[in-house]
Amino acid sequence: MENSTLYDIAIIGGGIVGAATLYKLQTRNPDLKIILIEKEDHLAAHQTGHNSGVIHSGLYYKPGSLKAKNCVKGRHELVAFAKEYGVDHDVCGKVVVATKESELPFMNKIFENGIANNTEGIEMISAAQIKEIEPHVVGIGGIWVPCTGIIDFVGATNKMAEVALAKQSASKVVLGEEVIAIEDKDGNHVIITDKQKINTRKMIFCAGLQADRMAKKDGVKLKEKVVGFRGDYYELTDQAKHKVKNLIYPVPNPDFPFLGVHFTRMTDGEIECGPNAVFTFKREGYGKTDFSMKDTCSALSYGGTWKLFFGNMKFGINEYRRAFSKRLFLKTLQTMIPDLTMEDIKPGRSGVRALLLSKDGDTRDDFRIEHTDNSIHVLNAPSPAATASLAIGEYIAEMAEEKFQLK
Ligand SMILES: Cc1cc2nc3c(=O)[nH]c(=O)nc-3n(C[C@H](O)[C@H](O)[C@H](O)COP(=O)(O)OP(=O)(O)OC[C@H]3O[C@@H](n4cnc5c(N)ncnc54)[C@H](O)[C@@H]3O)c2cc1C
Repeated sequence: MENSTLYDIAIIGGGIVGAATLYKLQTRNPDLKIILIEKEDHLAAHQTGHNSGVIHSGLYYKPGSLKAKNCVKGRHELVAFAKEYGVDHDVCGKVVVATKESELPFMNKIFENGIANNTEGIEMISAAQIKEIEPHVVGIGGIWVPCTGIIDFVGATNKMAEVALAKQSASKVVLGEEVIAIEDKDGNHVIITDKQKINTRKMIFCAGLQADRMAKKDGVKLKEKVVGFRGDYYELTDQAKHKVKNLIYPVPNPDFPFLGVHFTRMTDGEIECGPNAVFTFKREGYGKTDFSMKDTCSALSYGGTWKLFFGNMKFGINEYRRAFSKRLFLKTLQTMIPDLTMEDIKPGRSGVRALLLSKDGDTRDDFRIEHTDNSIHVLNAPSPAATASLAIGEYIAEMAEEKFQLK
């Protein structure tokens, strides 16, 4: 079915980055007719709805990087947005805990990063001060980060879309329609979904785990590929919830692109522990044995995946063992809370992170957003992109206004 409306912009992907882009573009340009197309029957169905729910501070990121700039700016905007629109959140602070001498140099390094990135109020704290904040934690030193918080990212995504649509009645969100092809027509584009054809002047792709495939469909020659890394969580049982007050993080291993298994109080009152990081055989698969032939062949036929495996063999095997062993998972958690027992944790949910991987096996750390004459592609938006979403949305809106000559 061909839809006769010509939209000014189509946004493909209704995670928090797509929704924030819609919100920013529509707020800055109330006359634009924008359509957001999401393949699932609700927004925030993949990375956004399966994440840790943490408003990150800006501590970890290389000063000057897009991550550092957009995390701090986006965090301020996200908290203001949540306050204005009643999205469940709490700026409760977190502790980063060193448990061995060998972690102290990197802990000092991230503290310096935090200062360079304007992470307000951070303080080095002693073992005794850690105990005052989190009585069950045993560490040798740490960092107190008062501006870290928790938020309902699904609620924030829905609210961004709702506020944007209220500004322009001709704009629209369509759910349950997968973009399968793109054609050019009379200088514009026809987006072919599994249900209809949508005409648009310009396109913005925010497709998360499918970013590389969408780029290919739009004729962008991308050297990297997306691979999925699943993260499994455990939850604290009711009897153990008193052992964690807010957020407790380890000092991350500088060799890996993940923050390490942490404790997170969620906005619904549950306390989650995780996530680990295992290569997944299905990009949007949340079970331990989920499998997709297409995703597996795509990942295993790519040299970058094998280089990543061989370069991180020991880490990968340990992560796999831990994914299938509650006892090993517990052992990791006990490095920070030694009195945690097997009865204190039960299996929880999972999420899959999209990592943009180069041919030489390097994960691309920073956000990556590129444009052609007619489209913008969000190619890499890993953590803290949910925290940074409103800043990323503004960055994309400015890029669109300039490159698409919207103003
Ligand atoms: C386990 C885990 C923990 C994390 N923890 C945090 C955290 O605590 N704090 C933080 O700031 N960040 C965190 N992150 C990162 C954060 O969740 C992501 O950076 C962010 O959600 C990315 O948003 P997105 O909109 O780019 O992607 P997504 O949320 O994945 O959205 C992409 C959307 O595009 C849609 N789509 C794809 N292809 C098509 C198509 N062909 N047609 C139509 N629609 C399509 C998908 O269905 C999906 O809804 C975490 C991520 C994970 C996985």
